Amino acid sequence: MTGISIENLTKNWGEFRAVDDVSFTTKENQFVALLGPSGCGKSTTLRLIAGLDTISSGRISIGSEDVTHRPPAKRNLSMVFQSYALFPHLTAAENILFGLSVRGVPKAEQQTRLKRTADILGLGHLLDRRPSQMSGGQQQRVALGRALISETPVCLLDEPLSNLDAKLRAGMRAEIRALQKRLGITMIYVTHDQTEAMSMADKVILMNGGKIEQAGTPAELYEKPASVFVAEFIGTPPMNVLKTVKGANGAVIAGGNVTLTKATAAGLQFGIRPEHIKLVDKGEKAIVQASEFLGADTILTCRIGDQTLLVRMGGRPGLKDGSVVQLGWEPGAMHFFDQSSGWRRDDVAPSNSALFSAIS
Ligand code: ATP
Repeated sequence: MTGISIENLTKNWGEFRAVDDVSFTTKENQFVALLGPSGCGKSTTLRLIAGLDTISSGRISIGSEDVTHRPPAKRNLSMVFQSYALFPHLTAAENILFGLSVRGVPKAEQQTRLKRTADILGLGHLLDRRPSQMSGGQQQRVALGRALISETPVCLLDEPLSNLDAKLRAGMRAEIRALQKRLGITMIYVTHDQTEAMSMADKVILMNGGKIEQAGTPAELYEKPASVFVAEFIGTPPMNVLKTVKGANGAVIAGGNVTLTKATAAGLQFGIRPEHIKLVDKGEKAIVQASEFLGADTILTCRIGDQTLLVRMGGRPGLKDGSVVQLGWEPGAMHFFDQSSGWRRDDVAPSNSALFSAIS
């Protein structure tokens, strides 16, 4: 069993708390993404798990073993860094084998594992090249090879694809994911890119200010964001989150007319994803301010009162700037958040009046 269990992990740098009482578990063979904006503490969390930094408090278990106070080499894990950290004067083969040589693994065993690793990563024809003679993607595969050849059951990766261009990144995402599943490794993967986390991970842990904001499957974070922070971090474009005010029959979008919920509580924020908004015959009136054609679809920037919201539409709707449109959505697509805390409010029932009859 090589799942990982993190209990109440805290790391202080002087007065500053970079990781604040973080707890989570991963199952064996799971791909877990540690996601969040720059400075939220994800790399520090990974380095604590690796044993590269010392914890202030908490407990780290790998499998059934408490490794909290063990040095990195005794934690039975491998790590891949953003910088690749390849030795420039060594060939790809020498770079991949470096750790095994240091540990005195017999030469014949080294060669067997090198062949296996090179086959898995498609590196066979590059083994004699130095890093300067390889592309970024090839160097990245060598860095991965160095981790995989150690055959540890746990692999930690810190933004391993951020130096690659978009096309290569997309290819490597799929490769790493397939490798992880094929080899049955538990991976913890740090990224600030929500697309990467959502497309690769079995479980996403979204961090904010050193704490876990929400942990769950990609679908859970998308469909039921725990807070405005999550709602606005997940999805491209992100969820629209709008101020509401009290209308005649309940809460309405500030500047709008349609009753969103009969709840009269003040201080609600309303969330709706751009892809869940439709043009309807009779709905919430909005003015188109701009449209951005992306090929398969178009993002409309619309205005309700003094608030802006984005609407994703298939194809090229051909709406001129300044057009007046009617917007609608299903009640199930509506989200409510507390205005002051930002946390989700599941106790607020969406009003049926927001289910517009003529959804096109
Ligand atoms: P990024 O995506 O930019 O790498 P991150 O989420 O991985 O961000 P961390 O590198 O974990 O963030 O850093 C978390 C916080 O801890 C940051 O505010 C950072 O400045 C601080 N920090 C990290 N390492 C140290 C250190 N050695 N000394 C002092 N502060 C540190």
